[in-house]
Amino acid sequence: MTPAGVSDAQFARALARFADVVGAEFVFSSREDVDLYRDAYSPLWGQPDERLASAAVAPASVEEVQAVVRIANELRIPLYPISTGKNLGYGGSAPAYSGSVVLDLKRMNRVLEVDEANATVLVEPGVSYFDLYRHLRETGSRLWLDVPDPGWGSLIGNALDRGSGATMAHLRNHFDAHCGLEVVLPDGDLLRTGMGALPGAKTWQSYRSGYGASVDGLFAQSGMGVVTKMGFWLLPEPEAFRRCAVNAWRFEDLHRMVEILNYVENTRLTTGFPELTSPLNGQRTIAAFMEANEHGAPPRDLEHAELLAAAEGGYSPELEAYGRRAGLPTWSFHLSYYGPPEVVEAQWRATRRLFSEIQGTSFEDGEIIRMPLAERDRGKVHDADLGIPSLRIFSAGARSALVPTPSYGHLFLSPVIPRTGAAIVEANRVFREAGIALDLPILRNFQLPTCYWERTFLFLIGMGVTRDPAVDGKRIAAFKALIRIAAEHGWSEYRTAPVFQDAVLDVFSYNDHALRRVQERLKDALDPNGILSAGRYGVWPRHLREGRG
Ligand SMILES: Cc1cc2nc3c(=O)[nH]c(=O)nc-3n(C[C@H](O)[C@H](O)[C@H](O)COP(=O)(O)OP(=O)(O)OC[C@H]3O[C@@H](n4cnc5c(N)ncnc54)[C@H](O)[C@@H]3O)c2cc1C
Repeated sequence: MTPAGVSDAQFARALARFADVVGAEFVFSSREDVDLYRDAYSPLWGQPDERLASAAVAPASVEEVQAVVRIANELRIPLYPISTGKNLGYGGSAPAYSGSVVLDLKRMNRVLEVDEANATVLVEPGVSYFDLYRHLRETGSRLWLDVPDPGWGSLIGNALDRGSGATMAHLRNHFDAHCGLEVVLPDGDLLRTGMGALPGAKTWQSYRSGYGASVDGLFAQSGMGVVTKMGFWLLPEPEAFRRCAVNAWRFEDLHRMVEILNYVENTRLTTGFPELTSPLNGQRTIAAFMEANEHGAPPRDLEHAELLAAAEGGYSPELEAYGRRAGLPTWSFHLSYYGPPEVVEAQWRATRRLFSEIQGTSFEDGEIIRMPLAERDRGKVHDADLGIPSLRIFSAGARSALVPTPSYGHLFLSPVIPRTGAAIVEANRVFREAGIALDLPILRNFQLPTCYWERTFLFLIGMGVTRDPAVDGKRIAAFKALIRIAAEHGWSEYRTAPVFQDAVLDVFSYNDHALRRVQERLKDALDPNGILSAGRYGVWPRHLREGRG
């Protein structure tokens, strides 16, 4: 495949020029090599619309990135930068625009600076969570990372897609936890943001705002530049970690539970990642979910299964009564604490007091785990709670004796909804009814959202990918319908795969799509030849906009 509008000869010339810059062994154009950049989770696998790369080029330095970008401008070759390319569920390593040459930055994998005293780091794009974790442990650092569930991705790629982790609120939103960028602009120019614009700056990784208009946000979920360095704030190892739970028994308690949760999180009484579960409705913590994937879910008795099947919207008086008899709370909110043991103890005591106003609440006092983590304590809590990267999450969907025919991946519908009990109930109603209307049973039981971000919930709904074009085609259509249905309720995706990026930007339509119009003006100004990440998050360069509606 050659990029559209580029002749074979011109493309061959571009690849030869790239090879002059990076070395022939780092330009990949054989079918076998380029296939590795396919999106393994693509719902369009093997179909004409699958997003495919034409080639890949892997530079080793900022200067090489600049040279590649300049050649691409000269010869009008579309480029698609990736860091480690593990964006499964959101497009993998495949470009948003077919025919793009993947600019694979994994060779740029140096940890450039670690400031132990101020808990900051400066990394290149190819540094994975595993790499940085290993580097920190091998150098005796006491700093922790905030990791997403799969540890093989990169700090930069994950943050630029606005990914999320599992420790403290101010670190869980990975783009918000960055401090300072270095960016090769689409014309090959080099920019440093924040204090990095000051030659010899001493606070590039520690003072975010810099001077004047902040431009950092232009480079997240966009095609405005190639990020070649990025600073992040880390977490100094706390003295202890504790994970506890608050249980409530009545369905109606959800509303007050959420209000108190918000209070304890927004006042930093709880300092970790809250996990909302429902033992009665069968929604587990991530750790219990992985345990069930690996060893099977605990059996459910017949009465419980029947009551669940009959309970409309997760509630019936009989189901609730069963929960009391069987010791299965309707709600179980897991709250975490980082800090000195005496502080953690006091914070949990205050949390208990606040939740006690709800009639009948019960509490699970988790063990205080002291740091540094002793081998005997490993595995007592989810690794990501302690900033330890792993790949254990892939037990979900992996082939095993329990799952002989796994899916080929999944799509995530990920709408952001308000942080209220009413919004949870409403989202369940809306998506359950939509699932029935679309003939796609997306919600089996009442579902609780995740708390990646402060002040909002993320209502994650996974759909399997089958590689059967008829089935996947139906799911794509349903997903697009769900994007519109969510928007009608004032909710939208925080992140999505290229196949849905146009549809999501479409619903951000305030004032005749003012947001898209501004993004397009910025795109045209920064990338006049439209060579970089065309179509990423729905923003197309001028020459590809026509006919897109
Ligand atoms: C089972 C499962 C669980 C998951 N759990 C989580 C989770 O807990 N949290 C989470 O956030 N994600 C999660 N994901 C999604 C995904 O795996 C991770 O977000 C992963 O870290 C993204 O891949 P990456 O870091 O290699 O980024 P990349 O694939 O390298 O980058 C993502 C995108 O960002 C852009 N980009 C990357 N680098 C650059 C650059 N240097 N300059 C300009 N643009 C760039 C590109 O458009 C690229 O496609 C999960 C996925 C699966 C399958």
